Parts: sequence; structure tokens; C-alpha cells
Amino acid sequence: MYRTHTNGELNATKLNQEVTLAGWVQKVRDKGFMIWVDLRDRYGITQLIFDEERTDAKVIEKAKSLAREYVIQITGNVIERESKNPNIPTGEIEILVTKLEILNTAKTPPFTIENNTDGGEELRMKYRYLDIRRNPVKEKLIFRHKVSMAVRNYLTSDNFVEVETPYLIKSTPEGARDFVVPSRMNEGQFYALPQSPQTFKQLLMVGGMDKYFQIVKCFRDEDLRADRQPEFTQIDCEMAFVEQEDILNTFEGLTRHLLKEINQVEVEKFPRITYDEAMRKYGNDKPDIRFGMEFGELNEVTQHKDFKVFNEAELVVGIAVPGAASYSRKEIDKLIDWVKRPQVGALGMVYAKYNDDGSLKSSVDKFYTQDDLKQWAEKTQAKPGDLICILSGETNKVRAQLSALRMEMAERLGLRKANEFAPLWVIDFPLLEWDEETQRYHAMHHPFTAPKKEDIPLLNSNPGAVKANAYDLVLNGNEIGGGSIRIHDKTTQAMMFEHLGFTPEEAQEQFGFLMDAFQYGAPPHGGLAFGLDRLVAILGGQESIRDFIAFPKNNAGRDVMIDAPAAIDQTQLQELHLAITHTS
Ligand code: ASP
Repeated sequence: MYRTHTNGELNATKLNQEVTLAGWVQKVRDKGFMIWVDLRDRYGITQLIFDEERTDAKVIEKAKSLAREYVIQITGNVIERESKNPNIPTGEIEILVTKLEILNTAKTPPFTIENNTDGGEELRMKYRYLDIRRNPVKEKLIFRHKVSMAVRNYLTSDNFVEVETPYLIKSTPEGARDFVVPSRMNEGQFYALPQSPQTFKQLLMVGGMDKYFQIVKCFRDEDLRADRQPEFTQIDCEMAFVEQEDILNTFEGLTRHLLKEINQVEVEKFPRITYDEAMRKYGNDKPDIRFGMEFGELNEVTQHKDFKVFNEAELVVGIAVPGAASYSRKEIDKLIDWVKRPQVGALGMVYAKYNDDGSLKSSVDKFYTQDDLKQWAEKTQAKPGDLICILSGETNKVRAQLSALRMEMAERLGLRKANEFAPLWVIDFPLLEWDEETQRYHAMHHPFTAPKKEDIPLLNSNPGAVKANAYDLVLNGNEIGGGSIRIHDKTTQAMMFEHLGFTPEEAQEQFGFLMDAFQYGAPPHGGLAFGLDRLVAILGGQESIRDFIAFPKNNAGRDVMIDAPAAIDQTQLQELHLAITHTS
């Protein structure tokens, strides 16, 4: 037996017991006649003492050779500590060591294995196994496990069955590029790694599984924005014989359960807003509703004067930033520079200060009267002390810009509190989305999403106006889940592919298996998927998903620890019938 106890469990109730412990050397303090060692494992730290007067000389000598991260096993007696440490559970005791075995030596680690480390991100990732020894990372991985278990338990108790689906498949169009895997046995042919198990879970519904879930890896070869991973984990779910309402209720239940179980937070029924309303009120389809600053559209109350900038704009829209009327000229100028940064892209910003005495002062006073400004205040729900910030221009662009400003101001004002949770459903997404680049409509969610029945006639005349039975679950400004009611008949699915620019042959070649399945009694079905990495990070009150992933990739999609991706040798290439024709 390597150990009788872990390093987190001994306390004064175990005094005088002989114990055997194992772990890593966190710290050695050598006072000559006495040596203290902090011994660490996943469960905690226990202090060891080697004392010239009480410990065998040979054991002392061995103890003198110990260094950070040596792996050791000791036997000794639990004794009361002289100076107690009330901050750790083992702080009342120490172990007077009688036997010491060095199980493995260790090179000096490249960064300190402490809660606050001196190691930069790249170094920590290269030696991720050392990083995982640190409490903050270790705890996040355990936290993730807790969330996954809570999900599994909840869904299992609601009759869901976890079914594994294959990783070597054919492309699933979810809007990203596929990772592909060459097939050795089928020359010139490739598998694709699933962007999600979408078509398989639908086939499981045709197969009568009724309620499916899977905590599953998905793969998307996208340009990596900060905090995106090429492989990520979904809680993927599908249900048969359901309407949208059933799905929203089921997964609202799951989310509420997680918030209660993991965060001890009870939330009210989740608000629901339509996509159109989300765009109008927040300029964003994943609004953070922990704070107000809702958009006030101002066309009506700004376009009756001679101010050309507003008169020529498709949309004039503002927010009232609480308490910011006290901003100095300089601070406002800085804010204007901020909205003009290329990342935000506004051409300028008009503002009005709502003074404490009830008067309003704007940057365009020569065009507008106090009465006009009062109306602006009304529309943006401004109160005395607020700063009304107004942007104008093309609707979609201005909304995105003002949304960026809204989030920035909330951040600055400390309104995005990590321990506050504001979930909501965004429903009635458009079915299709116009893509400027390809000059075509794309499925906004994916091609298997059902259009709203009443909108089907619009598919030919005004495709952009067709709404779908598609929904997103949003938490604190992040999309944590999304899904839809699916098409479950061949005719509608074929029509959908046609609208997305597929010829009937292409549709048959790529998705014949699904459309065929729909001819063998497919039940009405729908589902959604949660992004587990992000969900866990938000529940854990953190911005970054990386530390919740044991072995994440960097922004260039590299695993710097194992140094992947990497070249493969010529024989392997030949076996796969591949040739590298160009490297830059
Ligand atoms: N497969 C979808 C996704 O990955 C989720 C769903 O529609 O269930 O976004």
C-alpha cells in the first residue's frame, strides 16, 4: 500500500497514529537541525518534520537531498504542530518522519508550482502536466467533472440515453471547415471529423431512441479567435415527438439544475425574447441582461432637424450609461476614440449629458432644443446623472457598434458580475442569412432546421424574412446552447437544400442517407447542443475556457506540449496515397 491517507485529510483527531503518505515535495525548509517539507498531492498539503533529536540520522541525510517536485513516500507519526496554520485542514498537525523513500527525483520545474505562478501561458502549456499540479488548474478540471456529472445525472433521470456516435464520418455542414482524415483503405477518399453529431442524432430519433444525449468532442477548422478551440466539447441532445416548448422546458430545467447544484443559485423562469427584439434592444443575439442600458431608437426624435448625419442615417440609436454624465470632456473624447477604433468601427459619437439638475447638454446643441433632448432621454430611459451615447448609420453595423459600447461600459462600470447569472432564451431566429462574400443565402443554424410553417410561402418571395423554430440559450452575454426543431420529411429537406444552392444530385450525394431515412417513418424531432467548455467557464465565474480544458491548443491551433500538428514521414504519406506538393 503506497499510502494510508491522502495529504488533505489528517488532523488533530489522528494524533499519535502512524501513517504512510506519498506525494510531491512542494517546499523544503532546512534549518540545519530541523527540516520541514510540505508534501503535496491532489487532496492537499501535509507538513513533514525531520528533527535531529528525534529522527534517525540516515533519514535526515536523505531528507537533505530533497528538492522541489521530488516524489516521495514517508512513514511517520502524526504530532501536534507548534505553530498552527488555520488556513489549511491539516494545519494543526505535522508528521514526524521515521522512514523516507525517494520514489523519483525531479528536475527543477520551469515555473513555480504555486497558486500564483511565474510561468507565462506558453510555458505553462508546454509543461501542462506541471501546470495541472497547481491548485487553480486542478480545481477547474475537477469543477468541470462536477458539471459533467450533474448533466449526466439530470438527463439520465429524465430518461435520456447517452449514445456514442462516430468520429470518422462524412462532412456535416455547420458553417465551418471540416478537419479531414485520409483513408488508407480507400485511396483518395477522406473521412471528416464531425463538426457536431447532428445527422447521427437525428438518425437516432428515426431509430426510436426518443431521448438522446452525448458529452462529445466536436471539431471545426475555423480561424481561431481568442478562446476558441479547434476541438471542443458539446452536451449534444435530441428528443423525438416534441415541440419547441418541450425542448425549452427540458433544457431550462437542466440549466436551472446546474445553477442550483453547482452555484447554489436559484433563477426565475428564463425570459424569452425574439431574435428581432434582441437585435433591436441590445444589437446582439446573445445579450447580457445582467444590466440595463437597453437601446433607444431615436430616428423619430432626431430626424426632424437640420443635422445631416442623423437625417441620412438608416438608424439613430442610443444608450444611457448610468452615472457617466460626470465624465470630463477628456474622458468623453477618449470614449469617442474608443468607438472609432477599427475593431468597433463607428464614425463618431454624439452624446448628451443628463445633468443632476434635470437639464440636458449635448454635443449637437446647435441643432436640438431641450425638449428634443428630453425625448432622447425618454427613449433611452436615461435618468439624471446618465450620459446618453448615440451612434448612427446602417442598421446592422450601428447595432453591432453600440452593442460593443454597451458591453464596454458595463465592463468599466463593474456591471458584469461573475457571480450573477442572467439566462434567457432567444427564439425565432431567421432561417437564412445572406452572405455577402458568396452572394448567397446560408442556413443560419444548419440546413436541417425547420422553417416556421406559416413562413414557408415566403421562401421564394422573401427568403431573408423566413423565421425558423430555432433558439439559443444565452447566459451572461454568451451563447451557451443552441438548437432547433428539425425538418423530418424528405420533401421539405430537399426543398431546403435547393434554397441553399444545392443541385438535387449534390443534395442526394451528400445527404441522401438522411433523406432516405426520412422516408422510413421519421418522427417529429428537435434538440440542441450546449458548449460545455464555455458553460463550465461561466459557471466557474471565469472568462477563459482554456484552464477548464486539460490539454488545450493555442491560438494557432497547436498543442505546444506534444508539438502537434507535425509532418508525417514519407512511408506514412505513401500508405495514405498522399503527396505534399507545396509547403510555404
Ligand atoms: N448541432 C448543432 C450545433 O452544433 C446543435 C443542434 O442543432 O442541436 O450547433
